Amino acid sequence: MSIKLGIIGGGQLAWMMSDAANKLGVELIVQTPNQDDPAVSIAQETVFGAVDDAAATEILASKCDIITFENEFVNLDALYLLEQQGVCFRPRLAALSPLLDKYHQRCYLQDLGLPVPQFFALEKPEDIQTKIENWDFPIVLKARRHGYDGQGTFVIHDLASLSKVVNQKNTQFLVEEFVPFKKELAIIAARSVNGEIVTYPVVETQQQQQVCRRVIAPADITPQQVAEIQAIAHTLLNSLQVVGVFGIELFITADGKILVNEIAPRTHNSGHFSLDACETSQFEQHLRAVCGLPLEHTQLNCTSAIMVNLLGYENSHSDYQSQRQQLAAIPHAHLHWYGKTESRPGRKLGHLTVLLEQQNEQTALDIIHQIESIWYPPEKFS
Ligand code: ADP
Repeated sequence: MSIKLGIIGGGQLAWMMSDAANKLGVELIVQTPNQDDPAVSIAQETVFGAVDDAAATEILASKCDIITFENEFVNLDALYLLEQQGVCFRPRLAALSPLLDKYHQRCYLQDLGLPVPQFFALEKPEDIQTKIENWDFPIVLKARRHGYDGQGTFVIHDLASLSKVVNQKNTQFLVEEFVPFKKELAIIAARSVNGEIVTYPVVETQQQQQVCRRVIAPADITPQQVAEIQAIAHTLLNSLQVVGVFGIELFITADGKILVNEIAPRTHNSGHFSLDACETSQFEQHLRAVCGLPLEHTQLNCTSAIMVNLLGYENSHSDYQSQRQQLAAIPHAHLHWYGKTESRPGRKLGHLTVLLEQQNEQTALDIIHQIESIWYPPEKFS
């Protein structure tokens, strides 16, 4: 009998589980608000409801054996009641709870002894005067909850701007040191029901305006740095007793210091290259983990790979046929188009992975340039 897996969230991360679900004989039932969300087309059944709609999750639970997440912005308190009634969440809710608030997440990582940027919680506007006294600008201000793709993250250059943003936004903030990183890195790690852990190659991620634009796999770092990052992943996943895939975002400074920036308790954009470039994709690995199957190999099936996000740059209903054809014609390219009916600036509409036979920074940059000059109109290209 096939496993019925509920997924909270019906965006592209759930959509990309489809091939692996077919391969493994897993039926996907999705909870998502809109008929035109990407995963509705691949789901066996959809329960319509926002990701934080616990009543919808109760209906979802009645239709499946296990529930997992493609989006962590859930109502944890309400879901705990379902977990107490026997609903099986993987990862379990206790593995999510220290992570959903960025301040709690930082505290959790620090308590584990993992390296993080200096930080403090801005509880009330008066804290600006008292707590910021010994800090140099720039600093980074982050909304504690519901931030993603740079929404809610602000690089602040002086006290006046800090007060302005804090007073404008009615939310709780975390303040942290601005890390003058050399590169941003990420690692995808999976942990099985039995506690086995596998990690994917460490990648370099490149953000623009705090949104991921590109990923280069593997990152050009030393074996010791790779080992350090793998050890961070092991410590974290074991400590939380995670079952499933997590994404870990990191900074590396010019002197080789590694700091953890953020944990995504689910599959992650930095692991999309694994669909085409690895023995087992992060999506298959996640399904394997949460369905209690053994984990599989994670190594690259090519020397290196680049992944470029195709971000919306206008409000439109276009399906961008001509650009998609040109992109798909690039040698060794794999295009993934999420089928969204509406484009908006910054919205992730698809991605392109190109497999390479060599690891050469200039070649990677040339192909990235080729892809982005096909995708973005000249006036939006930077
Ligand atoms: P989100 O949850 O919105 O993705 P992140 O914390 O990952 O927020 O921040 C988004 C981006 O902002 C990062 O990828 C990085 O480029 C930049 N950033 C975040 N924190 C810092 C920091 N402390 N120092 C320097 N840049 C940062």
